[in-house]
Amino acid sequence: MSFRNRLRFEHQLAALVGLLCLALVGATVGGAVWLERRSALRLAEARLARLAAGMAESLDITLRERFREIQVVAGLEPLRERWASDPTMVRGVLSAMRATAPDYAWLGFVAADGQVRVGTGGMLETLAMNGRAWFETGLARPNVGDVHGAMLLSRLLVRTEPEPLRLVDLAAPVRDAAGRVIGVLGGHLSWDWAIRARRRLLDQDLAGTDLWVLDRHGRVILGPHLGTAPFGPARLGTMVEGGRGTFAAVIDGEARLAGFATAATGERSEIAGGDPGLGWIVVATRSDAQALAPVQRSIHALLGLGAAAAFAGIALAWALGRRAAAPLRRMTEAANRIGRDADATTLPRLDGAREFVALSAALRSLLRRIGSTERELSDAALRSSRVAAYYRRQIEDLRQVAGTDVLTGLLNRRGFAGPAEEAFARARGGRGGAAVLVIDIDHFKRVNDQHGHDAGDAVIRHVGALLAGALRDADTVARFGGEEFVVVLVDLDAAEATHSAERLCVAVRNAPIGHGGRTIPVTVSIGLATVARRDPDIQAVIARADAALYEAKARGRDRVSVAAGEAVERAA
Ligand code: GH3
Ligand code: MG
Ligand code: MG
Repeated sequence: MSFRNRLRFEHQLAALVGLLCLALVGATVGGAVWLERRSALRLAEARLARLAAGMAESLDITLRERFREIQVVAGLEPLRERWASDPTMVRGVLSAMRATAPDYAWLGFVAADGQVRVGTGGMLETLAMNGRAWFETGLARPNVGDVHGAMLLSRLLVRTEPEPLRLVDLAAPVRDAAGRVIGVLGGHLSWDWAIRARRRLLDQDLAGTDLWVLDRHGRVILGPHLGTAPFGPARLGTMVEGGRGTFAAVIDGEARLAGFATAATGERSEIAGGDPGLGWIVVATRSDAQALAPVQRSIHALLGLGAAAAFAGIALAWALGRRAAAPLRRMTEAANRIGRDADATTLPRLDGAREFVALSAALRSLLRRIGSTERELSDAALRSSRVAAYYRRQIEDLRQVAGTDVLTGLLNRRGFAGPAEEAFARARGGRGGAAVLVIDIDHFKRVNDQHGHDAGDAVIRHVGALLAGALRDADTVARFGGEEFVVVLVDLDAAEATHSAERLCVAVRNAPIGHGGRTIPVTVSIGLATVARRDPDIQAVIARADAALYEAKARGRDRVSVAAGEAVERAA
């Protein structure tokens, strides 16, 4: 039996539907997950790009404003005559500037000889700035320097940020009315503004988002791992070239999405004098896992729903299969009962579907047909057995009739043959002796003549009955025809046989028959022969007994004559 044939219908159906459900749910969930993932990643990338752009813009705006401010103030017409002559007034202007833009850590006017003439809060005054890039360049043109650690000011200023003070230097040449450069207006912009801008943006954004500002060499100037270079030159190149965009990268061993934007401050046009600019790049990153976390939740929900749907489908299929198979099961049980139990003869009437109704109708009609054929067969068998019994009885009767003498009811010659041959065989086998008597009624013709044929018949019946009554059960008597009888005596020797014959002779003589008011005397003559070794068959014995009978008649009738050569020879 194949594996499939051993499975119940409902189980097969449930397994099939279960597989189908799993395939459907798998495809649906897989597709949905793919779509969700893609859109979540796109969304996260776009958000990161926006964040980076926002940060870059924030940096740009502040730096641009401060830079313009420095240039405007450096070139203010009313101040031109006073830079060198009126330090108090200059200090007042610079203090006012710092009050409007607290991001300045320090503002100062440095004379062309390099000495600080005026510093906000009096800081750094009289110190020499020779050799400082911002000052040296500032003598020639306005400039912005990249962020760097503060040296002198960090000792002078009170810090609110935990990080060490870092500064962005801004400078512009100051000229007198004749247009000669008399010094440099310098401003040290505290990097804290960038730190705060970053914090503000990150506070507004999703947890797990990070923000870096890189200098033109790709080194971190804002954000974690200060001074390190998280991206290679190739990536840096594409960022500088693209200006804005997104990418995916492995950062610190974690797959992260990134959005980037280059700050306009880095553009050559923004910086007077044609310097290459600062070249800052803002990179916002977020781990893939965090970007996909919401998707993960919906995946779990989808998987849960899918599993529930599959389970419901399987349960439904199982129930349906069970329901569908129930009529067949009932039919099978009924058919089985019919096979085992002779009293069970009907199949149930099925319903529930057209096929079941048709099947039960077909099987029931088949069963009816089998039933009627069975009945016909059993009728025929009964009939034939009755006929057989009838013929058996007939044959038995015929056999009886064939072996029976009609007049006396004794055996006739045919009926005598069997028992006689059996007795002969027993005697020849040495199992006891046997003898044959041939008995003939004396002068029977006279009975017929004197008393009529009926009286003759009565005499024959009388002698037959007498002989039969006088013999033992084992002995056999038959009427051979006319008024002649033959007897086989068994289990005796010649002397005993002679004695029996003489007893018969006497018995007939002593029992005359009454007929028609008269008494008819009857005698018989008996010839006797015993079964001898030389006898080939029973007929030979009968022939010798017959010869002895002839002799008994010849010697005067009503006597027993033993065949010549027998052991006993005695006259009655
Ligand atoms: P024996 O002493 O020599 O035997 O003389 P018997 O007259 O008996 O012998 P026989 O053979 O001359 O006569 C026999 C007669 O028996 C002849 C026949 O008519 C008669 N018989 C034969 N069969 C029947 C029978 O069935 N019924 C009657 N009533 N007579 C029969
Ligand atoms: Mg005779
Ligand atoms: Mg006779």
